[in-house]
Amino acid sequence: MKHDVIIVGGGVSGTALLYTLCKYTNVKNIGLIEKYSDFGKVNSAPTMNSQTLHFGDIETNYTIEKARKVKHSADMVMNYLENEKAAKGDEKLFIKVPKMVLAVGKDQVINLRNRYPAFGELFPKLKMIDKEEIGKLEPRILEGRDPDQELLALITEDGYTVDFKKLSYSFVSNAKEINPDVSIYLSTKVISITRAGDNYLIKTDKGDFEAPAIVVAAGSHSLLMAKSLGYGKNYSILSMAGSFYTGPRVLNSKVYTIQVPKLPFAAVHGDPEVHNEFVTRFGPTAKPIFFLERYNNSTFWEYWKTFGLSLKPVLSIFKISSDRIIFNYLLKNVVYDFPWIGKRSFMKEIRKIVPNVKLEEIKYARGIGGTRPQIINNTTRKLELGEAKILGDKIIFNITPSPGASTCLGNALEDSVKLMEFLGNKFTFDKARFEKDLGKPS
Ligand SMILES: Cc1cc2nc3c(=O)[nH]c(=O)nc-3n(C[C@H](O)[C@H](O)[C@H](O)COP(=O)(O)OP(=O)(O)OC[C@H]3O[C@@H](n4cnc5c(N)ncnc54)[C@H](O)[C@@H]3O)c2cc1C
Repeated sequence: MKHDVIIVGGGVSGTALLYTLCKYTNVKNIGLIEKYSDFGKVNSAPTMNSQTLHFGDIETNYTIEKARKVKHSADMVMNYLENEKAAKGDEKLFIKVPKMVLAVGKDQVINLRNRYPAFGELFPKLKMIDKEEIGKLEPRILEGRDPDQELLALITEDGYTVDFKKLSYSFVSNAKEINPDVSIYLSTKVISITRAGDNYLIKTDKGDFEAPAIVVAAGSHSLLMAKSLGYGKNYSILSMAGSFYTGPRVLNSKVYTIQVPKLPFAAVHGDPEVHNEFVTRFGPTAKPIFFLERYNNSTFWEYWKTFGLSLKPVLSIFKISSDRIIFNYLLKNVVYDFPWIGKRSFMKEIRKIVPNVKLEEIKYARGIGGTRPQIINNTTRKLELGEAKILGDKIIFNITPSPGASTCLGNALEDSVKLMEFLGNKFTFDKARFEKDLGKPS
C-alpha cells in the first residue's frame, strides 16, 4: 500500500494528526497504522492516565514559558471539545470540574503566593483563595486538619476532565467524515521502518506499506523506531509507571499538590473520575519499570533496546538517581505498589489533601495507570520535562510522556507544518483556519 503520509500509532496523538490533516490540508491519501484492534488502548485510555487537560496553571513544576506553550496546545483541545459539544451535544468526551493547586505549610504558601502574579496574568480565570474559601469549596480539605497549618490555593472553574480514548474516536470519525478515502489499518503491527529510495518502507505483520513522509506517534515505541533509523541516539527512556488509589467522592474539584521542582511528573492529585464523579482517584505514583508498555510483558526487550545497551545510559541513571531528592522519591514510589505497606505509605500523600480520610475508604486501583516514557538525555545526563520530538529526514517521532494528551493538537499543528515541507509543498495546510477554529485563548 502506498500513501502520501503514514501515521504510526492510533492513540490521541496519531488520531489528532489524522484529523488535522483531513480537515486542514488537501492531502487525501493518508494511512494510519495501529497494532491494536482499537484506538487509544495504551496511554490514551481513560484507565491509563489522569484524564486532566493540563493548561499549566496548577502544575507547579512548570515554568511560565512551559505553561505558555502547554496552554496554547490545551486551548486547542478545549476548543475542539467545546465545538464538538456545541455541534453534537454531550458525547461524554469530557466533564468540567473546578481545579485547584493546594499549598500546605508556610514554605509552600509563600512559593505559591509568589507564583501567582505571573501565572494569574497568563491565566486570567485563576483566582487565589485563602483557607476559609478553600473550606467552603472543599470541606474535606479542612476537616481533621491542624488548625494552625497554613493553606493557600489557586483555583479555576475551567477544569477539564477528558476521556482521551473517546477523543481519539472523535478525531477518527470526523477525519473519516471529511475524507472517506483515509485508510485505517487496525490490528497491524509495524515491525520495521527502512529507507527505500525517496520513500520509507514500513514492514508490518499484515504486509508492506510505503510513503515519502511518516509521523511515528507510537508513545515509547517512537524512540525504538527512531533508534532503528539512527535517530535519537542520545536519548533513553525511564519508563515511569503511574498507579492510582481510589476512594469515594471526597472532593468536588481536581485538587493538585505542590510538585518538587526537580521532578518532571505531576504531583499527587485527587480527581473525580471522568465517567463516575462519585469515585475520586488519587495518584499517580511514579515507579520505574522495564517495559515500554505497562501490563505488556512482551515489551521488556523492546525497553532495553530503547534504553540502549551501552555505558552512557547507565551513567545517566546513576547521575540522576545520585540526587538524593530523586532517589528518595523513586524509592518511596516503588513502595506504593507493594501490598499492605503500599497503601499505608500512600495514605500520607492522600492525607495532605484529605486529612481525615479513612484507611478503609481507599483501595489500590488494580490494572489502572499506564507508564510515562520520561526522556533521559544522555548528553546532559538529566531527565527532560515533557514530550520529545525527533525530526529526521521526512520522518517525525513523537515521544509523549505527560502532558502528551493535552498537547496532541499542538503537536499535530507542528507536524502538519513539517509534513507540507517534507512533501515538497505540493500540498497546503490551512494553518490560519486551524488557529481560527482551535486557537482561541481561554
Ligand atoms: C499515569 C499517567 C497519567 C497521565 N496523566 C495525564 C494527564 O492527566 N493529562 C495528559 O495530558 N497526559 C497524561 N498522561 C500522558 C498521556 O496519557 C500520554 O501522553 C498520551 O496518552 C500519549 O498519547 P499517544 O497517542 O502519543 O500515545 P499512546 O496513547 O500510548 O498511543 C500510542 C499508540 O501507538 C501504538 N503502537 C505502538 N507501537 C506500535 C507498532 N509497532 N505498530 C503499530 N502501532 C504501534 C500503540 O498501540 C498505541 O495505540 C499520563 C500518562 C500516564 C501514564
